[in-house]
Amino acid sequence: MNKKPGLVFDQRYFYHRIEQSSPENPQRLQNLYQVLNDTDYKGKFIHIPPRMARSDDIEAVHSSFYINQLREHALSENPYSYDRDTYLMEETIPTAELAAGGCLELADRIMAEEINYGFALVRPPGHHAEPGRGMGFCVFNNVALTAAYLLNTYKLNRILIVDFDIHHGNGTQEAFYDSNQVMLLSVHQNSLFPFSGKETETGRGSGKGYTINIPVFPQFGDPEYTYLLGRLLQNLVEQYQPQIILVSAGFDGHRDETISATKLSTKWFGVATSMLRQYAREVCDNRLLFILEGGYNPVSLEASILATLESLWSKNIPKTGIFPAKRAEKLLFDHPLQEFWNI
Ligand SMILES: [Zn+2]
Repeated sequence: MNKKPGLVFDQRYFYHRIEQSSPENPQRLQNLYQVLNDTDYKGKFIHIPPRMARSDDIEAVHSSFYINQLREHALSENPYSYDRDTYLMEETIPTAELAAGGCLELADRIMAEEINYGFALVRPPGHHAEPGRGMGFCVFNNVALTAAYLLNTYKLNRILIVDFDIHHGNGTQEAFYDSNQVMLLSVHQNSLFPFSGKETETGRGSGKGYTINIPVFPQFGDPEYTYLLGRLLQNLVEQYQPQIILVSAGFDGHRDETISATKLSTKWFGVATSMLRQYAREVCDNRLLFILEGGYNPVSLEASILATLESLWSKNIPKTGIFPAKRAEKLLFDHPLQEFWNI
């Protein structure tokens, strides 16, 4: 039976904002929320109200030193007193708690089998936030907090995080670098902020091999990305057998984004979603949760999110082929984990 996807969106996600211009601002989502509220999209999803993450939810990933630092800087006159792009103001911490809590709420609904698919349309984003440090517009690491919550509350022990934001998910990597209970696959443009995520960063101790970084060339577009994601998912999902797939869904690799040089089309995000649905159906009872990361051109961001949603609520899961893309093949052939995972 087809269940409707659960979406979290809430006007309170706009409370984190400053006067000065920043790429990470409420305008990213304002029109999208309107579209979801006003048009025939209504009825295609379940609107799920977010909750506030509790302090022990946040402390499952972030240090109390960092949380206290945030509180101090949030009260400062200068919104950039903590970091040059991660602004903090009075409403930042409650908004970030509501962002994390929205993801946890969706995780609960998925685990209760009320929904199969969720999409947390939240801000501020999270994947750059490390356990002890915020950066790159990210305050609390929403996807890492969700994985920690699923490990602790539901005793899951094989969680796959797929991060296709155009920047490396350094914070998520840091949170689970020693763990084989969370596998991170991050596909990102090379030599871009935060300049980590080399293919040689593969995990540590029992986590060795469970961090898979695929830095790709800026000129890559749909064929290369479809090849890479398809081939990696096919091999990793089959061998790891995740119990849920979490997606750090960043849309800043779109060709209309000025923040990257990558050339993904709007349609590609729908193709990627079909692939993820396909694998979620095969191994983890369709459990699939998208969490919004980057995407700074409001027009292409809205279109790409809608392409993702169209793909989530379409009745059939279209088979997406993996076709050869010469420029991308070599990246896997030369990868240090090529033999480890047979990718
Ligand atoms: Zn990004």
